[in-house]
Amino acid sequence: MAVTGSTRRTPLIAGNWKMNLDHLQSIAFVQKLAWSLKDARHDFDTVEVAIFPPYTDLRSVQTLVSADKLPLAFGAQDLSEHDSGAFTGEISGAFLAQLECQYVIIGHSERRTLHSETDAHVAAKVTAALKHNLVPVICVGETAADLEEHGPSAVPVSQLRAALAGVDTAADIVVAYEPVWAIGSGQAATPEQAEQVAAQLRVVISEALGQDVADKTRILYGGSVKASNIAAFMREPNVDGALVGGASLDIHEFSSIIRYQKHVGV
Ligand code: PEP
Repeated sequence: MAVTGSTRRTPLIAGNWKMNLDHLQSIAFVQKLAWSLKDARHDFDTVEVAIFPPYTDLRSVQTLVSADKLPLAFGAQDLSEHDSGAFTGEISGAFLAQLECQYVIIGHSERRTLHSETDAHVAAKVTAALKHNLVPVICVGETAADLEEHGPSAVPVSQLRAALAGVDTAADIVVAYEPVWAIGSGQAATPEQAEQVAAQLRVVISEALGQDVADKTRILYGGSVKASNIAAFMREPNVDGALVGGASLDIHEFSSIIRYQKHVGV
């Protein structure tokens, strides 16, 4: 478990499904995941689990989680910076809150790259999420070119500063450090790099929101996380969990990532 000073942060393992699994598949998947973790006697108080299905699955997931009292958190992969109105195709934070979403991913590199989201959009979405009591999972990370030109921390640090510009000091946030070159590539960052950047991101949080918030904020690593490498990331003091893409779609692999504390040598 990640510890800073006297502050204990509950690790969070989050699965970003991206545009995979329709609403019927989501029901079967969540049932199987819950059984698998129950069989393994997973303690959700020790390692929190959250899933991020497509929008069209959220109502089904909410109904299942609520009916079966599953200890799984869930959220959306994006939200609109607006509350309502003429924004065709957009989904408001108010709608997500109505569906009992706890979290929302903001600023994923696929949104930044494929949908031209800027730091300003990300900041507006963070404000919108907090307004609706959703915990934003703020994604930051450098491209391979950024890494070569500026090293690993400069871009994530500047993205996080921008994302937190309008945030209240009482905010409950999660930060995900996701090097763009590591996402879906099979080539994860080293745990040392993840730790180095996470430590600097914690300083940014402390400067923007104060030391108390910095101490309690979970900073996740994301980028080609698997059952075979999660334990090494989780040994780092500033890495408090993982945002998992591809491997979160495989029940056996994802539940093994969640149960990283049982792996040999942790
Ligand atoms: C992601 O898309 O957030 C991600 C980390 O993907 P993957 O685990 O597949 O690299």
